[in-house]
Amino acid sequence: MKKNIFSGSGTFPKGIHPPERKHFSADAPIEVIPTPKEVVIPLQQHIGAPSKPLVKPKQTVEYGDLIADNKDAPISAKIHSPIFGVVQKMAITTLPNGRHVQAIRIKAEGRQFTVDENYRELMGGRWSKSVVGYDPDEVTRAIHDAGIVGLGGAAFPTHVKIAPYKKKVDTLIVNGCECEPYLTADDRLMRDIPDTVISGALLSRFAMGIENIIIGIEENKPEAIAAIRKSAQGTNIQIAVLKTKYPQGSEKHLIKAVLNREVPLGCLPADAGVAVSNVTTMTAVARAVFRGMPLTHRVVCVTGGGIVQPKNLLVPIGISYGELIDFCGGLTQNAARILSGGPMMGFSFADLSMPLTKGTGGITVLTHDDLRKEAATTCVRCGRCVDVCPMNLIPARLAVAARHGNLALAEKYKIGGCMECGCCAYVCPAHIPLVQFIRVGKAQIIASKTKK
Ligand code: SF4
Ligand code: SF4
Repeated sequence: MKKNIFSGSGTFPKGIHPPERKHFSADAPIEVIPTPKEVVIPLQQHIGAPSKPLVKPKQTVEYGDLIADNKDAPISAKIHSPIFGVVQKMAITTLPNGRHVQAIRIKAEGRQFTVDENYRELMGGRWSKSVVGYDPDEVTRAIHDAGIVGLGGAAFPTHVKIAPYKKKVDTLIVNGCECEPYLTADDRLMRDIPDTVISGALLSRFAMGIENIIIGIEENKPEAIAAIRKSAQGTNIQIAVLKTKYPQGSEKHLIKAVLNREVPLGCLPADAGVAVSNVTTMTAVARAVFRGMPLTHRVVCVTGGGIVQPKNLLVPIGISYGELIDFCGGLTQNAARILSGGPMMGFSFADLSMPLTKGTGGITVLTHDDLRKEAATTCVRCGRCVDVCPMNLIPARLAVAARHGNLALAEKYKIGGCMECGCCAYVCPAHIPLVQFIRVGKAQIIASKTKK
């Protein structure tokens, strides 16, 4: 009998439960998008040092070729071409978070893999659940060589995360929460290719040299829970069914919900003996180790009332947001705001030529009806923002300090601990854009420290 390692209560204190709105895309199985005419691949799409280009303009590249790397940096990620093509002049591109980064532009040329071929290689076939014949270092090396980063949004290089820890880690939590409203890419992945998720989880555990794996899934995804449970049969992977709540997908809150362990402010999951990795990352690990395939594609959800036909798509990294939206029938007449990510933590943007990066799991298009129309008024000191802040901060005070440029006070109130989840702004009856003020305050603190 399996030892029960799911020792948490299945939820965490505070947080919110906004309308889920998963219905737009939850029933759309993953489709593969045809190869675009061009991809623009940012050299900084992960946490750590930017990669350096290994290719020159006019050079021909093949699908899966290594095009950028940074061997000198301890934390960085390799980047590969997702298409057959010819490298163009180096470009500067802007990401939805406003950062300007160098990018490699590749124009498609020659025969490309068809939709069916890509589906078969990246999603189809049988996935082994045995690690016999591998050694842990070989698995870690394959993950490093494939350029895998956390695909849940953090984009932290996975080979660094699973490398032997100085601090003792005893449990891998695989994050299948997808707690952001609207987004369904992880849900579909667990439903459509559960064996790939389980294969990747077993390989990651093997590379880390630990015993325990728990997959945390919120109860609003019953089909995913059933599919993962069935696929995990015969392994000692446990499934933790969690109460649906936002922001449960954040590492610290997931650890609390699953294991009842605390990760203090300023500490990492490893300090609580845990590593957390997303379900999508697990599928990339399985492809890298069992099929020798680098991270060139990912699943992304294109959704919301502002999209004609919401879908879950397997797409090449570097494709433009505009092409993804066009493939989903374009924008509806009522479309008002495009977000990279979901409505709680996503970034609003307007330039549809921006490229999709490894860490982007969704595009949400909100309608005019979805947007709040009320103007911000003054704080009524109701304390609701404090009641919901999952980081136990005082959002109203943080926002006032940041708004008045009192950075010392903002630091005293621990502005750095804000994860920008948006719970406070969501409940604020005065409609104060608390997160915007906090974001600006954090940026000012970073700028003032960089100047010194
Ligand atoms: S202060 Fe930060 S962490 Fe707290 S609710 Fe607001 S956005 Fe979330
Ligand atoms: S929720 Fe809004 S109005 Fe209430 S205390 Fe916080 S900032 Fe003030």
